[in-house]
Amino acid sequence: MKDTFTHQGMRKRLVETLKKKGITNPDVLAAVNKIPRHLFMDSSFIDHAYVDKAFPIAADQTISQPYTVARQTELLGVKRGDKILEIGTGSGYQTAVLLEVGAKVYSIERQNELFKKTKRFLPKLGYRPKKLIFGDGYIGLENEAPFDGIIVTAGAPYVPKPLLAQLKVGAKLVIPVGDKVQIMEVYTRISPTAFSKEEFGEFRFVPLLEDKN
Ligand code: SAH
Repeated sequence: MKDTFTHQGMRKRLVETLKKKGITNPDVLAAVNKIPRHLFMDSSFIDHAYVDKAFPIAADQTISQPYTVARQTELLGVKRGDKILEIGTGSGYQTAVLLEVGAKVYSIERQNELFKKTKRFLPKLGYRPKKLIFGDGYIGLENEAPFDGIIVTAGAPYVPKPLLAQLKVGAKLVIPVGDKVQIMEVYTRISPTAFSKEEFGEFRFVPLLEDKN
C-alpha cells in the first residue's frame, strides 16, 4: 500500500477542483488532501482515483464521487467530537473523511462482503471508527442514539423515520432522496417534535436497499 508524491500531487489538484466546484470548508478540503483515496479502490481503478468521479468497488457498489463526499460532509456541519452515524460504509472513504474532520463515527453497511473488507482495511490506514455495523441502515442505530448528525450515502426512496428520531435537537440528517436521480435533502431537528428541511441540488447514488439480500 503505497502513497507516492505523484498521488499527493494528484490529490492537491483534486482539492483545487473541489474548491472550484464550491467546497469551502477547510477541514473537509484538508481531509481530501490527506486521505489516499486510491487505496480505497480496486487496483484496476487506481489510475482514476483522483478524478472527481464515482467508481465501482466490490458487490456492485460504488465509492462516491469526491465532490459528493465533500459536499455531504460540509452540509453535515461536523464539529470535533461529534457523534456521527453513517449509512452505507461501502469502501470506507466517507468514513475516513468523517474521522479526519474529528467525528466519532458509527457506520452501517448491509453488504457483508464489503462490511468485512472495509472493517479489515480501515485500521491498516490508522482509521478507527467507534463501530462498524453489519445491518440495515433504514432502522439506524437505536442503542447508540441520539447522534449529532446522520449521513446517508445511498439514494433513499423516502426518509426513514427512525433516522429523524435518532437526531439530537440541533442535529442534521443529510440524505439523498429519489429514485434514479436524488435531491440532497437536509433535515434539522429544531425541537423535539419539529424539523426544518432544505434542498441542495441533484446527485446520483446507488440505491439504499430495503430487503436484506
Ligand atoms: N460511503 C461509501 C459509499 C458507498 S455506496 C463510500 O464512501 O465508499 C452506498 C453503500 O450503501 C453501499 O456500500 C451499499 O451496500 C450500502 N447500502 C445500501 N443499502 C443499505 C442499507 N439499507 N443499509 C446500510 N447500507 C446500505
